Amino acid sequence: MSLIVAKFGGTSVKDAQAILRSANVAISTKANVIAVSATAGTTNLFANLIAIADSGSASVSESVQKIFTQLRDNHLQIASDLLATGEVSGKIISLIDDARSTFLNLLMAEEKYKKAYQDELYSYGERISSVLMTHAMKSLGIDTVKVDATNFIKTDSHFLNASAQIDKIKKMSEFFLRAHLNEGKTIVTQGFIGSNEVGQTTTLGRGGSDYSAALIAEALQANALYIWTDVNGIYTVDPRINKNARHINELTYQEAAELASFGAKVLHPSCLLPAMRGDFPIFVGSSLDHEQPGTWVKGQSAATPAIRALAKRSNQKLMTLSSVKMIGTHGFLANIFTTLAKYKVNVDLVTTSECSVALTLDGNNNGCGGEFMFDQQMIDELSQFCHVEIEDNLTLVALIGNNMHTAAGLGTVAFSSLGEFNIRCVSHGASSHNLCFLVASQNADDILNRLHQRFIENNFGQIQQEPAHEVFS
Ligand code: ADP
Ligand code: ASP
Ligand code: MG
Repeated sequence: MSLIVAKFGGTSVKDAQAILRSANVAISTKANVIAVSATAGTTNLFANLIAIADSGSASVSESVQKIFTQLRDNHLQIASDLLATGEVSGKIISLIDDARSTFLNLLMAEEKYKKAYQDELYSYGERISSVLMTHAMKSLGIDTVKVDATNFIKTDSHFLNASAQIDKIKKMSEFFLRAHLNEGKTIVTQGFIGSNEVGQTTTLGRGGSDYSAALIAEALQANALYIWTDVNGIYTVDPRINKNARHINELTYQEAAELASFGAKVLHPSCLLPAMRGDFPIFVGSSLDHEQPGTWVKGQSAATPAIRALAKRSNQKLMTLSSVKMIGTHGFLANIFTTLAKYKVNVDLVTTSECSVALTLDGNNNGCGGEFMFDQQMIDELSQFCHVEIEDNLTLVALIGNNMHTAAGLGTVAFSSLGEFNIRCVSHGASSHNLCFLVASQNADDILNRLHQRFIENNFGQIQQEPAHEVFS
């Protein structure tokens, strides 16, 4: 029997019409497990509540009441448009009430407990949308059961950006899901959320529902994962940025992982690893029109062009550390990285010269926890042995492809496309799958579009490749 896991993102469950359409897509594509995101905009409303709590406001302000009213009205309206019974509305009201109590607990919590309450609060978006999707599936005559993801998506306690524990997830999925599947039931569950060892709710970071669905597919040894979203697959560049973006029929896990980690929001970067381990294909398609061709992501692809696609990741920071003492000495880099590791800083790109090192840090890398902030104590420690400079408002623009280290002429075409734009940093060579430019954020879209025009529209993706050098390993 084939086993299909499907994930529906926020826009695919944004209102009653979208939920019913998605439920029909799930039925016609024979989904056995359905993971849903919160309805579009809901997780952002919870993020706003958390920001209000963080701002230190001790009282429940008018804006807080407004957000809760909006959450309640939006979801009750969907329930009513779905012609749901009073039982469904009752469940929604009770979940919103629980979210309200969680918010009050968050306001009063000691600092060390706050993150746990924040994750608890975030989870209500998916808890509510899963009630609505379950109702929609049942209303279409499907034998459906809702199983809460906190039962089987087991994670560590890194609140707001938890790491999944796949061995436990496999065991728990067998326990909580397999019997329902054997009985021919369709399961609806929540994306994005899980729980730690002691049962506290955790979340997998913003956009994490793709990751949840991939973990479920791996745990149940699914035959395929379908990611249903608002675009009919993966394009050569974000189609919202460039109307000349081209549809990609199939690409490899590796290419998709590079695209996702360089900012293509269409897939969460973490969802590729479960797919590689479980060796199941991922289909990305539009829930608005599921018969349109989508994109298959799998182990092998018929074509592996030198340049496959482009992506950008905004909100990057550049830290330059320099010291003339570095010349001819050893240990400078070790000292820098030891200090960064001590403060758990996740370094991205690294470029070095004789007496300085430049590192990029992802300003978004805190899962749901908002923007990355430099720890002043860390800067002080680094300043004891080098001069530290930090720049922001930078964006990483990446060309993604295959065997790029053997692509003769790639640099000439890339640099000549950039004309008058200033390039703050370049990274190439460490990976054969990307060439990255760090540029001022205000120029990033222009640069992306120019590179897209030269490499994709003018077909430089088929660039001449030299035979690879011998590699010793
Ligand atoms: P969902 O809520 O369904 O998870 P997301 O907004 O997270 O949807 O992801 C879908 C969006 O990803 C698209 O609307 C599109 O703007 C964006 N996107 C970014 N890069 C790409 C790309 N290379 N191909 C397709 N979509 C992309
Ligand atoms: N609802 C969560 C978010 O908006 C997770 C997801 O949609 O994937 O980030
Ligand atoms: Mg998404």
